[in-house]
Order: sequence, then C-alpha cells, then structure tokens
Amino acid sequence: MTEINEKTILVDLQRCIGCWTCSLACKVGNNLPDDEFWLTVRTQGSGEGIDRPAGTWPNLHMSWIPIWSQSCVKCPSRIAKGDKPYCVNSCPCNALTIGEAAAAKKEELRDRGFRFFELPAWEKSKDNVLYAEKK
Ligand code: SF4
Ligand code: SF4
Repeated sequence: MTEINEKTILVDLQRCIGCWTCSLACKVGNNLPDDEFWLTVRTQGSGEGIDRPAGTWPNLHMSWIPIWSQSCVKCPSRIAKGDKPYCVNSCPCNALTIGEAAAAKKEELRDRGFRFFELPAWEKSKDNVLYAEKK
C-alpha cells in the first residue's frame, strides 16, 4: 500500500454520506464545464439505477464511495498557499483529510479497528487516494 505523503487523500467511508459536496466544490473551484467532473460519487445499491437501494422494504441498504478521476490535479495552487483542496475543504462530514492530517487520521482510525484499501488499477482512478472503512 502506498505510503501517505503530502498529496494523499484519506477518505473515512464511515463518515461519508454520499452528498456530492466535494464533487461540486471541485467543479466550482476549478471552473469546470457543465459536463465535466474530476470527482464523482458512486452509489452501490440494487444496480438498477444510480440511487436505487438494494433489498426490500424495510430492509434496504445502499453504500457510496467518492472516486477521484485521473483528471484531478490535487489543487497545487491551494496546497502551495497552505490551503486544503476544494474537495477536502468542503466536506460537511469531515470525511476527507490530506497530507499530515491524513497520516494522523490513519493512525487514529487504525486504533479504532478500521481497515484501509485503495481502488484497483483497473478503475483507472487518481492514485494516492486511501479509503478507510470499519472492519
Ligand atoms: S466525501 Fe464528504 S462531501 Fe464528498 S460525498 Fe462524502 S460526505 Fe459528501
Ligand atoms: S484535489 Fe482539487 S482537483 Fe482534485 S478533486 Fe479535489 S478539488 Fe478537484
């Protein structure tokens, strides 16, 4: 697994509510065209539509995971000023950390029994994104 460095984004999936704020903050901050997203949120439910849960009422379940595309540039101008990337800065659930904060968060989450994973290479997503989920 990749060592955490100043560009590593750590995603606490226990905190992520799939709200897309990170994606929209990136889009606005980087002035992206209407049809372009550098970060999207994938929902995992029934597989029959983006927001359809799996199961039958009342036993429904769905999960979600934000995914950084290769287009993400990790906000170099903001990092150079000591600011967090738009996506990390905007998360209302404090699910995202980067750099030293990510290293500290990883230790904290490990102590709390979380496991860590990266997306497989075939996803062709941005490197240096680490996910944490409760075992
Ligand atoms: S990482 Fe934060 S901003 Fe992005 S979808 Fe999850 S909760 Fe929302
Ligand atoms: S790090 Fe910057 S460029 Fe990359 S997804 Fe976040 S806001 Fe967008």
